[in-house]
Amino acid sequence: MAAPDSYASLRESMVREQIESRGVRDRAVMEVMKRVPRHQFVPAAIRSWAYADRPLPIGHGATISQPYIVALMTELLEVRSSHRVLEIGTGSGYQAAILARLSKHVYTIELEKELAREATQRLTRLGYANVTVRHGDGYRGWPEEAPFDRIIVTAAPPELPAALIDQLAPGGKLVAPVGSGWDQELILVSKAKDGTVRRESKGGVRFVPMRPQARVGRR
Ligand code: SAH
Repeated sequence: MAAPDSYASLRESMVREQIESRGVRDRAVMEVMKRVPRHQFVPAAIRSWAYADRPLPIGHGATISQPYIVALMTELLEVRSSHRVLEIGTGSGYQAAILARLSKHVYTIELEKELAREATQRLTRLGYANVTVRHGDGYRGWPEEAPFDRIIVTAAPPELPAALIDQLAPGGKLVAPVGSGWDQELILVSKAKDGTVRRESKGGVRFVPMRPQARVGRR
């Protein structure tokens, strides 16, 4: 295992070579990406790959997103310290940790029970006190805690889930990969103060599909 300060220098080069070089300009986003220990969010067996320019498998068919994609989506959201943020697809908890350092509170939902459990433990161990993980179906959002200033979806639904748009506060922003199979686009949704919703495409992406929750006892 590399010494702690060599991880810090790996993060410095990750930000310079993968993120800044591709046009991310938000200083606050780059600073948090230099601080959050990404190697703590990947399985021990592939820890040496933690700062590579690619997504990595984290078990249960899930992946931790490529660092650049995490930075891009975080920049698009324009997160402020007063914001309450909803994430769909906790996975490793890495994106939630990045958002937690920029916002007031992160609510994050994971369909896979074991991943939800592991992410909860990891975030607690690393001291992210302003993140709440829930095991459940992201298609429903989190009505008890809505509305949210920002929403990020990190698995791809075939279409934008209506419940999530509903749970976005006026003035809010949502970012999500949308599409079927590998044909996905990163969509930025902005909700105006009067509730009008505007969508813009931010280019092609590849995320694991967002799955509907299995219905126990039915086929
Ligand atoms: N944001 C994560 C990466 C997520 S990968 C990170 O930083 O590591 C996508 C995740 O979405 C997977 O963990 C998958 O289990 C989860 N997922 C898929 N369908 C879902 C659904 N309907 N509701 C909630 N989570 C879902």
